[in-house]
Amino acid sequence: MAGKLATDSSSDGSNAAPSPTRLPEFLPFHRPSITEAEISEVVDTLRSGWLTLGPRTQRFEEQFAERVGAKRAIGVSSCTAGLHLTLVAMGVGEGDEVITSPYTFPSTVSSILYTGATPVLVDTLPDYPNIDPEAVAAKVSSKTKAIVPIHFAGAACDLDRITEIAESVGARVLEDAAHALPTTYKGRTVGGIGDAAAFSLYAGKNMTTGEGGMVTTNDDALADEVKCLRLHGISRDAWKRYTAEGSWYYEVSMLGFKYNMTDIAAAMGLQQLARLDEMQERRMQLIRAYDGALAGIAGVILPRPADYTESSWHLYVIRIDPDVIGMGRSQVIEELKADNIGTSVHFIPAHHHPFFQERLGCKESDLPNATRLFETAISLPLFPDMELAAVDQVAASLARILEENRR
Ligand SMILES: *Cc1c(COP(=O)(O)O)cnc(C)c1O
Repeated sequence: MAGKLATDSSSDGSNAAPSPTRLPEFLPFHRPSITEAEISEVVDTLRSGWLTLGPRTQRFEEQFAERVGAKRAIGVSSCTAGLHLTLVAMGVGEGDEVITSPYTFPSTVSSILYTGATPVLVDTLPDYPNIDPEAVAAKVSSKTKAIVPIHFAGAACDLDRITEIAESVGARVLEDAAHALPTTYKGRTVGGIGDAAAFSLYAGKNMTTGEGGMVTTNDDALADEVKCLRLHGISRDAWKRYTAEGSWYYEVSMLGFKYNMTDIAAAMGLQQLARLDEMQERRMQLIRAYDGALAGIAGVILPRPADYTESSWHLYVIRIDPDVIGMGRSQVIEELKADNIGTSVHFIPAHHHPFFQERLGCKESDLPNATRLFETAISLPLFPDMELAAVDQVAASLARILEENRR
C-alpha cells in the first residue's frame, strides 16, 4: 500500500492516495449502440443510388408511426427542426405566445423564437423537472397559441391536464418528445396521444440516426403542412418526380425550409427501431440496478417519475441533497471524474442562459423549482451496452465521495 504513505506524492504534485473506487478504464456518460445491422443497411443505401428523402425515409416513417400509435410520422433533420416546423404549421407567429418550461435543451425555446412568437417560461413541478400544469394555467390567455411540454428524461408530463388547459383558450399542444421514445402516459404511447410530438434521433438519444428527428400526429392537415414545410414548401413528394410515374413539375405553395430526413439516416433508423425494444429492456435492467444500488446512500435523491407514466428512462438523473452533503454538485462531478466516471448535467435551464435572460427579460430567481432541481442534478452513465457491473462501480464511487462529505 505504498500509495497510502504520506511521503508518496504523485507526479502531478498532489499527495492524495489513489482512490479505492477508481475504475480501471473511463466509463463514458453515453455511447450509441450500433450493430452490424445498422452498418449494412447504411452501406446498402449508399450502394442503392438513393441517398436522401426516398424509399427508406418513407418506410421508416410508416414503421415509426406504427410503433408510437400515430396516424402520421414525418422524418426531419432534427427534433429542433421538427419543433420549428410544427409550430409554423400550427400557425404560430409574431404576436403569439407559446408556453413552455425552462428545464430543457435550448432549442425548445429557440424554435419558438424562430417563429417570431414569444416564449413564456413557467416553472416545473417541485420534485420532478416536468412543467407544472397549474403554472401553465396561471399564464394562459387569448394570446397563447401553443403549449410545449417537455417529457423530461422520458417521463411524460400530465398531458390530460395540459390539453384541458390548452383547449380552454384554443391553444394547441406540441410535445417535446426528444427523450420520450418509448414512453407511455396512462397506458398510451407518447407520439400517438396529443396534437403533435417531436422526437429527437440525435446520437445521444435512446435511438439514433446520427442526426435526425420525427414529428408524429393524428392530424392529417397538420402532417401534410409539416411535410410540405420540411422541403422548401414544395407540395408533392420529391422522390416521385424522378420515377417513371412522376414528372418534372412542382410547385412552391408556402415558405418552406430544408429540414428533410436523408435515406442514410433513415437506414440507421429502420434498424434502430427494430432494436428499440431490446435496447429498452437492457436500459430497464440498468435502471433497476441503479435504483437498488443507490437506494441506501445518504444524500442521494433518486429520480421518481409520476405514477401515470412509464418512462423511457432516457436519463438517470439523481440529485445531491444539500441538507445532507456538504459538497456542491459540481465538486461531486469532479470527484466522479477522478474515479474515471463520466457524467453530465441536464439541463442548464433556459432562464440561466445570458441570451434568454436578455431576450425574454428573465432572471435565475424567476423560476425557483427549475433552478433548485438544476443546482443539485447529476446525470449518471446510462447506455444499453453498459455493463451491469458498472452500475455497482458508480454506486461505490458515489457512496465513498458522499460519505466523505457528509455534513
Ligand atoms: C436533444 C433535445 C432536443 C433537440 O434535439 P435535436 O434532434 O438535437 O434537435 C430538444 N429538446 C430536448 C429536451 C432535447 O433533449
